[in-house]
Amino acid sequence: MNPSPFENPVFVTAPLLPDLDQFKHSMESIWESGWLTNRGEQHQKLQAELQSVLKVKDLSLFCNGTMALLMACRALAVSGEVITTPFTFPATPHCISWAGARPVFCDINADDLTIDPDKLEALITPKTSAILGVHVFGNPCKVSKIEEIAKRHRLKVIYDAAHVFGVEVNGRGIGEFGDISMFSFHATKVFHTAEGGCLTFNDPSLKESIELMKNFGISSEECVEIMGLNGKMNEMQAALGLEVLKLVEEEIAVRRRLFEIYQEELKELDGVSILSPVPNIRANYGYCVILVDEDQAGLSRDTLHHELKNLNVMTRKYFYPLCCDYPHYRSEYSDSELPIARKIAGQVLCLPLHGRLRTEDVYRICNMMKTICREASSSGVH
Ligand SMILES: *Cc1c(COP(=O)(O)O)cnc(C)c1O
Repeated sequence: MNPSPFENPVFVTAPLLPDLDQFKHSMESIWESGWLTNRGEQHQKLQAELQSVLKVKDLSLFCNGTMALLMACRALAVSGEVITTPFTFPATPHCISWAGARPVFCDINADDLTIDPDKLEALITPKTSAILGVHVFGNPCKVSKIEEIAKRHRLKVIYDAAHVFGVEVNGRGIGEFGDISMFSFHATKVFHTAEGGCLTFNDPSLKESIELMKNFGISSEECVEIMGLNGKMNEMQAALGLEVLKLVEEEIAVRRRLFEIYQEELKELDGVSILSPVPNIRANYGYCVILVDEDQAGLSRDTLHHELKNLNVMTRKYFYPLCCDYPHYRSEYSDSELPIARKIAGQVLCLPLHGRLRTEDVYRICNMMKTICREASSSGVH
């Protein structure tokens, strides 16, 4: 029997929305103060709270994650070549390019989909200035190995930590690793400020250049010291963040329960594997990611994506296409390179996971997937 479609589309994510009256209350105090941006009260409060939630030494808030990442690249003066992963959101390689360097794409691990340190060293040239790893879908990069390689070759390390809000490795905040980490607070992330982001760092000498850079380079009334830009977070964003922050722990707990249903229900599906959090971390359950092995499953990722869409379940092919295949970067890469990333990009699918889904919705999606896979293997059509 064919499953019946959801009445309304089920989206892959939904933003965490605080109580509107609470938010209005914060807006009233902003209105009273007449202070809308430039390190106001809300900004200072959010910065202090995030510093403790993320367990980091220092932190600087930004208008969005991409601007923050660009400024991380500039603050560390990256140049020449920066080694990064092709399996990420476009912002990652674009920031390297905007900072005036060339992204060099390194293949990924098949187990956690992060940059493969064993393939990284072969890509280092005299022009290499930094490594930009992405903690993809909540799984941390192999941080110790990367640190060791970076030390040996005197390279800077930047992490795109857009997916890992609240993740800890052996009790340490993920933002502690590398020279600078960038968190995105976009509405689609576990914690958000509608648009927003931050940089975290340990070296106090970075503080000044980061703060200058995000405020046009203005150091005093009559002095513009460096070529800065405008990367500031405003008071409305910060106030929203303070309210959303109160809800994050509960959201992660709800997502965890839903994720575990997916994990249990999809176990029996041949050729479909679910990306599970690696050991020794505190996970944030930001995404539910599966890999579809066409030979074993009897259907392709694209077919599953399409069939689920017909049932009003909106899955996403993150990250397909790979960054190395965008027109801006493609000329430098052939199809035979980056084999693991290519394979994964053809298999990966993000399933709906957010706190507004009900457990019965997740069971229903899993049953839909079982029916689709069963019919595909019995008909033999890929
Ligand atoms: C969301 C995201 C970004 C961009 O962050 P914005 O806050 O939207 O600018 C960068 N990298 C990754 C991996 C992301 O998922």
